[in-house]
Amino acid sequence: MTLASSLKAIPTSSNNAETKSVSILGSTGSVGCSTVEIVSHHPDRFRIVALTANTNVEKLAEQARALRPELCVISDPSLYSALQEALHGEGIEVAAGRDALIDAARRPSDFLMAAIVGAAGLEPTLAAVERGAQIGFANKECLVSAGSVMTKAVADFGATLLPVDSEHNAIFQVYDSDRTETIARILLTGSGGPFRTADIATMKNATPAQAIAHPNWSMGQKISVDSATMMNKGLELIEAHHLFPLSADRIEILIHPQSVIHSMVEYVDGSVLAQLGSPDMKTPIAHALAWPGRVSIPAERIDFHTIKDLTFEAPDETRFPSLRLAREAIDAGSGSQCAMNAANEIAVRDFLNESIGFLDIPAIVEETMTRMGSPNLATLADVLELDLAARHVATDISLSRR
Ligand code: NAD
Ligand code: MG
Repeated sequence: MTLASSLKAIPTSSNNAETKSVSILGSTGSVGCSTVEIVSHHPDRFRIVALTANTNVEKLAEQARALRPELCVISDPSLYSALQEALHGEGIEVAAGRDALIDAARRPSDFLMAAIVGAAGLEPTLAAVERGAQIGFANKECLVSAGSVMTKAVADFGATLLPVDSEHNAIFQVYDSDRTETIARILLTGSGGPFRTADIATMKNATPAQAIAHPNWSMGQKISVDSATMMNKGLELIEAHHLFPLSADRIEILIHPQSVIHSMVEYVDGSVLAQLGSPDMKTPIAHALAWPGRVSIPAERIDFHTIKDLTFEAPDETRFPSLRLAREAIDAGSGSQCAMNAANEIAVRDFLNESIGFLDIPAIVEETMTRMGSPNLATLADVLELDLAARHVATDISLSRR
C-alpha cells in the first residue's frame, strides 16, 4: 500500500456540501473529544453513526445525548447496564464488549475516526479497513504493531487512511503523491517533550506528573509519556515509513521546540514544503474529517508577529534511546516493531502507576525486543500472538526491575 494508491480510492469530485456520516472509536479520549467538538460545530456537515469508549460511561452518554448517534458502545462489558441506564428512553442503541466495538467499526459510515489508544485499536480499525472505509488515522500503535498486515488490508479492501497525527497530516498536506520520485526526504518534527533539556539524573527521578506535562500539546496520558521518552517520535517514524513510500533513511527526525512547523517534505530541487499551525489537534482532525475539502474550526490561529524564534536541533539519542530502538526495529522487521510497541505500552502503564522509573521504560523496551527477536508477521493472528507474548515478557522484565 502507498498513501498515493489509497488516495485514488476517493473520487475527486466528492461534494463538500453533502452530510458525511461519521463513527468515532475512542470518542471520550483527547482526539475523540476534539473530533466531537468539530462535528458538533457543523451539524449540517456531519452526522454521527457510532460512538465508542472503554470505561467512561458518563462522558459517552453526554456525547450521545448531544450528537444522537445510532449506536453507543462501551468496551468494558461490566458497564453495559450503566450505559443502558444513562441512555434510557433516548432511542439510541446501546451495546457492550469487544465484539460490539468491532461491530460498531463495521457499521457503514462515510468516515471513521480511529482514536483508540494502543494496539487495542487494531482489530476495530482493521474491521473498518475491511469495509473499505475512509479512516481518520490517529491510532498509530496499531500501524506500528501490524505494519504490512494493515497496509496490505488497506490496499486489498480499497480503504483510505487519512493521517491525523499532526506530523503525518502535515506531510500528507504537502506530499506530492502523484510524483513521489520528486521527493528527496521527509523532515519529521517533534517538540522534544518536557525533558528536552533535562539531565539524565532529572530524567531518572521524573514523576508521572512531570512526564505528562507536555510544553505545547494537550494529549492523553499514554502519548504524553511517549512524548517525554521520545518513543512517540520513534512510533511516528515507523508510522511515516508505513504511510509514505520512503525508506527510513530518508525520514529525518528534527527537534523543533516551538511546534509551529508540523513537518516538512524536501523535493529533489531543494524546495522544502511545510505545514504550519497552532499546536491544536483540531486542525489535523478537521483536515481529515473534511478531506478533500476544508471546514472552519474554533481553534487558535498562528500570530506570526508573536513568534520570536523557529529553532531546530538534532535529537539526542543517548538520553532518548527510543529513537535508536525504532530505527533498529525498522531494520529488524515486522516482529520487532510489534514487540517494541507492546513492550512500550506495558512499560508506560507501569511507569504511570509508579511501579518503575522513567528510565526503565526504554530499558524494558530494549530488553523485550532483544528477547523476542523479529519473527515475520504475515497475518492478524501472528500479530496478536506476538503482541501478547511481548506483553508477558515486558511484564516479567518490569517486575524484575522493582
Ligand atoms: P486517550 O487516552 O485520551 O483516549 C483513548 C480513547 O480510547 C478513549 O476514548 C478510551 O475510552 C478508548 N480506549 C482506551 N483503551 C481502550 C480499549 N482497550 N478498548 C477500547 N477503547 C479503548 O488517547 P488520545 O490521546 O486521544 O490518543 C488516541 C490515539 O491517537 C493514540 O494512538 C495516540 O497516539 C494518537 N494521537 C493522539 C494525539 C493527541 O493529541 N492526543 C495526537 C496524535 C496522535
Ligand atoms: Mg504526532
